Amino acid sequence: MPLKTKTSKRSTKIAVTLLSGLLPIVLGFVILHMQAERALKQSAQQTAEEAIRQFELMLDNTAQAARELLPLAGQSCSEINLALREQVTRRPFVRSTNLLWDDVIYCSSLFGDYHEKIASGDYSQGQLLLMKGNPVTPDTALLVYRLSKGKQGAMSTLDGYHLSNVLRLIGRQTLLALQIGPNWLTADGKFHDEALPAFKVAESKLTSSRYPFSVTAGFPKGETWVYMTSQYPPLFSLLIFFGMISGSIAHFLQKRTSSPTHEMQRALEAVEFVPYFQAVVHGETKAVSGLEVLMRWNHPKEGLVRPDLFIPFAEHSGLIVPMTRSLMQQTATLLAPLSASFKEPFHIGINITANHCQDLELVKDCREFLDAFVPGSIHLVLELTERELIEPTTITHQLFEQLHDLGVKIAIDDFGTGHSSLGYLRQFNVDYLKIDQSFVAMIGIDTLSSHILDSIIELAVKLDLAMVAEGVETQEQSDYLSAHNVNFLQGYLFGRPMPGAEFISALSAH
Ligand code: C2E
Ligand code: CA
Ligand code: CA
Repeated sequence: MPLKTKTSKRSTKIAVTLLSGLLPIVLGFVILHMQAERALKQSAQQTAEEAIRQFELMLDNTAQAARELLPLAGQSCSEINLALREQVTRRPFVRSTNLLWDDVIYCSSLFGDYHEKIASGDYSQGQLLLMKGNPVTPDTALLVYRLSKGKQGAMSTLDGYHLSNVLRLIGRQTLLALQIGPNWLTADGKFHDEALPAFKVAESKLTSSRYPFSVTAGFPKGETWVYMTSQYPPLFSLLIFFGMISGSIAHFLQKRTSSPTHEMQRALEAVEFVPYFQAVVHGETKAVSGLEVLMRWNHPKEGLVRPDLFIPFAEHSGLIVPMTRSLMQQTATLLAPLSASFKEPFHIGINITANHCQDLELVKDCREFLDAFVPGSIHLVLELTERELIEPTTITHQLFEQLHDLGVKIAIDDFGTGHSSLGYLRQFNVDYLKIDQSFVAMIGIDTLSSHILDSIIELAVKLDLAMVAEGVETQEQSDYLSAHNVNFLQGYLFGRPMPGAEFISALSAH
């Protein structure tokens, strides 16, 4: 059970550290991704605007040729043929010019006299038509500009080569398409008449306000990532750096908050929590009747550490239960070999916390402890402090019943400092009251405290409970307590807490 809690806590800590490290990286990455998309969108928009501007300039030039020729429409081809050719020569983008009468081309700069009916409905807004090619150059796209006035008509054509050149030069990194009606042209000079496929990234479509054409700009799939890897490597390094810092801070903070527990877990495994024994003597004879086991932390660096400095942490982390178990095992190993020589049952007091009373494990611990001794040679006394009362539940009832059946005694420690009721004492089959040392210290000093002490003694007698007085330091205190029939005494006057081996040799000497 403790092992499970430990591993699950460790995996939570690893998860928190990883999350704290990854969160800034992921967030930063998302922000950079959005930033890259915005930059690409802006670039596509600018490219489309520039292409529109260039095409409008080229169309202005082409339209100018048609405008100059239109008044000549109707005259015979032989008369105007030269004028048609002159426009082709003078205008850089114009490839050919034609004159029409009633939507029939009757004169061409290329062929002179000619006859071909055109479908004016094919022209976008009657003005522009993108064609795959013409009879002379069937594989080179061309853009036809048409102008008409009554039956008069003039047409000038713009070479697709110039158009695709503009698309190629302006849209170096960008995909660009020039669209007129249902037809469109790409930078490779290819003519298309199927539906224009969508550009996957940052598509931007702009329409000219002066001529019926539009330009679509965008990028292929995966371009955002390509852009990020080419533009943001220093920011990526910064993100990883922040992630590492954030992960390390999380790791450090967790380590700091959990280090006492961690350290105590290590100490438990290294058996650094050792028992000290303090003698308990008969009130009358002052002969040693038993001992109280007091925990000490034999710290490799700090030396001997007092229990009040680490027991609260141990209780908080739940480690107090395995620590007490270890203490009981060490005590049994030290004292069991002497048990045959005990003339009457030797009292061994062990301090137990409420934590330890939440399940029936304590019964098992006590049984194992008792089994180590010669049967009947000891009385195991569990000391439960009055400051921390145990909640009566079905489990605690069962627990105390089974402990009672085992012959384990119960003492209320620090009696007089807490709030135990008569009902409480009965419920848990209490055998001893350990009078708190604060009352003992007031003997001969403070009359009020002496009165309280007298009342406690009176109460214990009435309840038929045995008494142990703690913290007996002076002869006066010892005499007073003996005179008041306190059954057992404990304190520096009779012996300080000492290492197990020392206690045993002192006991043997007696
Ligand atoms: P406690 O159970 O009331 O133990 C008695 C304390 O009084 C011990 O302090 C002992 O050294 C001290 N003491 C004994 N005689 C005298 C005296 O004549 N004068 C004075 N001034 N003090 C005396 P210690 O060993 O420092 O333990 C302090 C407390 O730590 C204990 O109080 C107990 O509540 C707790 N503790 C000690 N060992 C354990 C343990 O194994 N488990 C648990 N849960 N608590 C323990
Ligand atoms: Ca005690
Ligand atoms: Ca006490």
